[in-house]
Amino acid sequence: SSIPKIVILGAGYGGVLTSLRLQKELNYNEADVTLVNKHDYHYITTHLHMPAAGTDNPENARVNISKLIDEFKIDFVKSTVVQIRPQDRKVILEDGTLSYDYLVIGLGGEPETFGIPGLLENAMNIRSINSVRLIREHIEYQFARFKREPHRTDYLTFVVGGAGFTGIEFIGELSDRIPELCKQFDVDPSLVKIYNIEAAPTALPGFDPELVEYAMEVLRKKGVTFRIGTAIKECTPDGVIVGDGEEIRSQTVIWTGGIRGNRLIEEAGFETMRGRVKVDEFMRAPGHENIYILGDNSLVFNPEGRPYPPTAQIAMQAGVNCAHNLVASIRNQPLKGFAYSNKGTVASLGKGEAIGIAFGKKYKGRVAAWLKKAIDLRYLFIIGGIPLVLRKGKFL
Ligand code: FAD
Ligand code: NAD
Repeated sequence: SSIPKIVILGAGYGGVLTSLRLQKELNYNEADVTLVNKHDYHYITTHLHMPAAGTDNPENARVNISKLIDEFKIDFVKSTVVQIRPQDRKVILEDGTLSYDYLVIGLGGEPETFGIPGLLENAMNIRSINSVRLIREHIEYQFARFKREPHRTDYLTFVVGGAGFTGIEFIGELSDRIPELCKQFDVDPSLVKIYNIEAAPTALPGFDPELVEYAMEVLRKKGVTFRIGTAIKECTPDGVIVGDGEEIRSQTVIWTGGIRGNRLIEEAGFETMRGRVKVDEFMRAPGHENIYILGDNSLVFNPEGRPYPPTAQIAMQAGVNCAHNLVASIRNQPLKGFAYSNKGTVASLGKGEAIGIAFGKKYKGRVAAWLKKAIDLRYLFIIGGIPLVLRKGKFL
């Protein structure tokens, strides 16, 4: 048929926003839109630090895709993408093939291990519902194991590698969860050690130093030991090797040391830096007028020539811009360049505590925690309206 086919890969922040906008802006029979995602749910990645630590249920960090998109307007396919073939305008799924006229790639990032030996095999990551289920169960299991082998204090040592926002938010939750687990398992809290290990000279490198100091103080009071300016060199089944050879024995290593793009993108032949494609001003892959790349898989530069950090915020804005340009392409109208507008950054430090910069001002403590909640509610509203806010909002 002559109806253009749009295929969207990944129902993350970028893919969902693109889908929602397309279903609103496209007229009847103007395009065939297909959304492909590995699971039949969208996960709220920005909430995953809570279920990972066990301070919230994983159910509260996911939403069924059928509740978000209108299946009369968008075909949803639950499947895993195994190959992208730009030369044939095809996408190979584990159980079929899709052809497209326009492709949107929003498959999200993967943990970056920088080739550090043993990390892939021995550390866990906060990336998806399944990965946080594992972390949550694993932490609880260490307490149960300790009760059977009380000499194994390494069961009670928890290592978080990397003090970026993911590491800091997780450690905020973990330090809230540990006292509960100590009570539940009758374990002396003084036996538990939580280490946050950061290679850079400061936690949250590049963020406001006063807020970073505040965050570290809040976390130290909750029992966290920071090892700043100390790199993880190796991860083994017994723990981590840091700095110049010191071993920290632990059965629980959570790696939050950074992310890279999805390897399907490199395999498809796109030129990448750490798995990300340096997109053009319209968020398209260079040399491919019909392929848009969003979110953690794209590299977008600010006017000073430095890359923006990969966030949900930029992925959402890219999705909106991408949908606009897809509609414009189909209607032979001019495309709109992508201009990122940074609304700020707010990070949680556990219950009732957070830090952030928004509206050009600094926030900390309760006000910042409230702001974080407001941002999360706003997101639920954007993707699912009032019904989703009412269903999930009370858990945030
Ligand atoms: P994702 O949201 O990662 O979605 C990718 C989708 O693709 C997923 O649904 C996945 O299942 C699917 N997929 C992957 N591979 C395949 C495949 N082969 N086949 C089919 N489907 C596949 N950013 C902020 O701006 N603010 C925050 O407060 C914030 N908090 C965060 C907290 C945590 C704990 C973490 C880990 C990240 C946080 N981020 C935050 C960063 C933010 O989550 C990411 O930048 C954002 O999720 C990127 O969106 P995306 O659309 O690129 O991909
Ligand atoms: P990141 O890349 O921002 O941070 C990783 C940290 O790990 C860095 O500080 C790095 O120096 C450190 N590191 C790297 N190698 C190391 C080693 N060998 N040993 C010890 N430390 C090492 O990754 P992230 O924290 O997962 O964040 C990813 C993206 O998601 C960022 O863009 C971030 O802004 C965003 N995010 C935002 C929020 C929020 O706004 N609340 C929360 C989470 C994530």
